[in-house]
Amino acid sequence: MKKYIGCDLGGTNLRAAIVDVENGDILQQVSIPTLAREGHAAVMERMNGLILQVIQSAEMQKEGIGGIGIGVPGALDLEKGETLFLPNLPGTWPHIPLRDTIAKLTGLPVTLLNDVRAITNGEWRFGAGRGLDTIAVFAVGTGIGGGLVINGQLHLGIGGTGGELGHTIIDYNGPACGCGNQGCLEAYASGPAIAAMGMKAVSQGLTTKISDSCGHDLNCITPELIARAALEGDAIAKTIYEKAGFYIGIAAANICAAIGPRRIVIAGGVAQAGELLLDPIRRCIRERVFVMPVDQVEVVQSQLGNHAGMIGVACWAANP
Ligand SMILES: [Zn+2]
Repeated sequence: MKKYIGCDLGGTNLRAAIVDVENGDILQQVSIPTLAREGHAAVMERMNGLILQVIQSAEMQKEGIGGIGIGVPGALDLEKGETLFLPNLPGTWPHIPLRDTIAKLTGLPVTLLNDVRAITNGEWRFGAGRGLDTIAVFAVGTGIGGGLVINGQLHLGIGGTGGELGHTIIDYNGPACGCGNQGCLEAYASGPAIAAMGMKAVSQGLTTKISDSCGHDLNCITPELIARAALEGDAIAKTIYEKAGFYIGIAAANICAAIGPRRIVIAGGVAQAGELLLDPIRRCIRERVFVMPVDQVEVVQSQLGNHAGMIGVACWAANP
């Protein structure tokens, strides 16, 4: 069986891995800085070089590669193979023919997928959602991405836009979200929103370990720092994760009612907080869902870490 390449177009790094799609193993991987400011043409040239490099460093030939999947951080037109809006890349890449350009440069078939749908596919095939027919994934980091698997299929919706769980509305009068809407989950529980709760507590002069561990420099407050304070028993830090988990729980309750998932997987950097975040999500859905058997819905941390996307998009390229 041919191997597939999973490629991650990140705002900071370009990564590529050769994946055995029969078992999810990564056989070889390489990474270089994206240098996104150089523009999309230069980035696509670098991606081509990276793909050739990963094939070479695995001592393989192009003939042994079945295709390339690229995980893309933003909105796509899957039919045309174009990027539409990549908010974290300079220029935002409107109508850039990423699929056909990389196919032409490499001579290999290319498939695109949103990066969090790629994570969802990876966790479903070989990670925390393995073997289940219906799951939801929340990827909590700088933003909140999402993805759904419904009845044994990765859910795409119009042009692959379905599954943006971070932009489900939890308060229609809520704060502005980066997407242009207001009251989205992302505005309440993303990494920056969690850090902002810590900054607020410190600037209000509340007694919390967060002040000491940031050296009273508000800019040093991160979700990880707040999680460490919470694990050391700090009440304010615990409350911050309680709130973030509650908000994710409200969104997750809506998803439970909508699709009846067997498992909800929490991925992304903020998921490293583990039970601090998972426990309030569980409590919230159990209090807020009545129309389906919510006691059967598991809330778990992702398993594949930052490899999930490359594994998932390689599997997608092999078997969309
Ligand atoms: Zn939004």
